[in-house]
Amino acid sequence: MGYESRTQAIYQITEREPIFAEPPSRLEDIWAVDVFSLSKMKQCLPKGVFKSLKKTIQAGEQLDVSISDMVASAMKDWAISRGASYYAHVFYPMTNATAEKHDGFVSIQSDGSAISEFAGKLLVQGEPDGSSFPNGGIRSTFEARGYTAWDVTSPAYLMETDNGVTLCIPTVFISWTGEALDKKTPLLRSINAMNKAATKVLKLLGHSDVAPVNSSCGAEQEYFLVDAHFANSRPDLLLAGRTLFGKPPAKGQQFDDHYFGAIPERVQVFMQDVEKKMYRLGIPAKTRHNEVAPGQFEIAPFFEAANVASDHQQLTMTLLRQTAKKHGFVCLLHEKPFAGINGSGKHVNWSVGNETQGNLLDPGDSPHENAQFLVFCAAVIRGVHKFGPLMRAVIANASNDHRLGANEAPPAIMSVYLGSQLETLFNQIAKGDMSDNYSHKGEMQIGVDTLPPLSKDAGDRNRTSPFAFTGNRFEFRAVGSGQSVSGPLIALNTMLADSLNFIGDLLETELEKGTEQNAAILSVLKEIMQKHGAVIFGGDGYSAEWHKMAVEERGLANLPTTAEALPCLKEKYIEELFESTGVLSPVELESRYEVYSEQYVLSIEVEAKLVIDIAKTSIYPAAMRHLADIAGTVAGLEEMGISLAPDNIKTVAELTNSMMSKVAKLSSAIEKEDFGNTEEHMKYCAKTLRPMMDSVREDVDALESEVADDLWPLPTYQEMLFIK
Ligand code: ADP
Ligand code: MG
Repeated sequence: MGYESRTQAIYQITEREPIFAEPPSRLEDIWAVDVFSLSKMKQCLPKGVFKSLKKTIQAGEQLDVSISDMVASAMKDWAISRGASYYAHVFYPMTNATAEKHDGFVSIQSDGSAISEFAGKLLVQGEPDGSSFPNGGIRSTFEARGYTAWDVTSPAYLMETDNGVTLCIPTVFISWTGEALDKKTPLLRSINAMNKAATKVLKLLGHSDVAPVNSSCGAEQEYFLVDAHFANSRPDLLLAGRTLFGKPPAKGQQFDDHYFGAIPERVQVFMQDVEKKMYRLGIPAKTRHNEVAPGQFEIAPFFEAANVASDHQQLTMTLLRQTAKKHGFVCLLHEKPFAGINGSGKHVNWSVGNETQGNLLDPGDSPHENAQFLVFCAAVIRGVHKFGPLMRAVIANASNDHRLGANEAPPAIMSVYLGSQLETLFNQIAKGDMSDNYSHKGEMQIGVDTLPPLSKDAGDRNRTSPFAFTGNRFEFRAVGSGQSVSGPLIALNTMLADSLNFIGDLLETELEKGTEQNAAILSVLKEIMQKHGAVIFGGDGYSAEWHKMAVEERGLANLPTTAEALPCLKEKYIEELFESTGVLSPVELESRYEVYSEQYVLSIEVEAKLVIDIAKTSIYPAAMRHLADIAGTVAGLEEMGISLAPDNIKTVAELTNSMMSKVAKLSSAIEKEDFGNTEEHMKYCAKTLRPMMDSVREDVDALESEVADDLWPLPTYQEMLFIK
């Protein structure tokens, strides 16, 4: 740390040898070469085995044990032929991380020789020593081990690092007694629940041929790149992922010149490298561009089935971090690495559909398809209204709190943006006033007449909405950049399953009564819109008026911090939602609450300690040195009869005193331990510790404007954001 490291960093960045992009490979040559894909399986498995496996994959069922040995052996041969000597069961614990346990293929024979072996049972099931992963009390209660099991719907792949090649097998991670300890298990269950409910509704709508319904996800990932020389001199960036101090640069994002501007060359080389790796892993990277803030970028893939998209999203985060290192950057996936500069989100684009009926959130172009679309869209609206606090809870963590509720990211109030056309239509349905929408024959047509093709124009976007309809999908914009997409997808699928179950029952009753189909649909839509229409909002989500109106007139929850949002997981109606759909048992749900709240408390405590540490050991000495320098000079000049206005000395002395007294208070505040329960502890972090940290920061940032630059110990915002 210190000024010297800053100048060194600048020197090294400026003098660095340019990295040239490798010549681009033809997509056809590299696409999914590192994936044990269906086509590779077809090549190397006996016909019968392949057929059975394909069925398992497409229906998402458990692998037939009798073929698992053959599949494992084929997978091993392929991996070894590509240079792998290890395999890893990859799983997704209740943090946002990806975890893996590596094992060698090596097996020692009785005569002491070694062969490479990979039996079916090792493919299907593993037993990682996952005891250090948070489990929310599940495993101590049940005294059970955790084990991993291959999720056949997500293909195995090779991960190439400088240390060699590893065969990676995506798995679920569950306790011996079957409780989910990860994010994948409930995601698979939520897809299942949604499929069942959607299938019933589609059949009631008159379809006899209904393929399995799945949800899709395309996640836009925002991130920052900071040169590693700078990042490594900032303990806050390294340990907390964000800067705890730093005054805004003279030039911020006010010119908007970074957004969609030319991508800096060094960054472009990095991006190409990431994309190449993604293509090799069969991840369809599609768009890349600069984001609003300086130093901020975005990458988005083409959408995929939710389960695979979620695994690929985790891989994308890993690749971004790894590749950044290779290019001398640190990739920051934190939601708010720099105060006063736009934060990073992850827009989760989500829809549901199947092979026979297509995208169910696409309006379509026949009256029947339109009606079907309205039913599914209404189901989503009902879900957001009923379970808005859950949506807020699944994106709640210490870092995302900096975005939600601040004036740049979607607000912490969950509402739905539909676009004016759809909003008007749903309002008419709620009022039962469809006079504009009757065809000349006098019958109500929920279709072409009422619903001209919806504009899919990106201009028709409301950037202030946390959850927006964008023509053929919903975009959950409040998700944090560093978060797993599984939590949000689980919530969305499960809410939708609940709504579709509700609609299915209602429709069934109406149809059994002999109500004509169109009328039955209309009455269901009307009921939903009357009860849940309050969640639809097309205005400015950042405005004070909306915050007031949402809470006071519409009864929507405003949960600005995690401390307020997470406890909803303990509410009876949330427990019922997950239990009735079979997505999470009450024990599993409770364990999630425990894990997430503990993580929240821990991350704020780590930050508080860092604030104290950096203030005391870096900022204070710098300020004192500055004072000593200037005071000495002032005294010397005074002796010569020249007097200088001591303004700067006074300011620095006062700020230093104030900072140190705040640090002392914060130091004793973090000692407090006597909390009645987790909720109280979280509130203390949100309402007491955080404001105290912010208050230390005020002094430090003010000092940064006063203390001599060559004494300042931390790389500045200006340096980190603009020097590449
Ligand atoms: P924008 O920045 O305008 O929101 P992008 O093109 O960057 O749009 O990202 C849109 C994302 O939505 C892409 O990942 C795209 O594949 C995804 N998407 C498109 N259709 C669907 C769908 N039916 N289901 C899920 N995601 C979708
Ligand atoms: Mg978007």
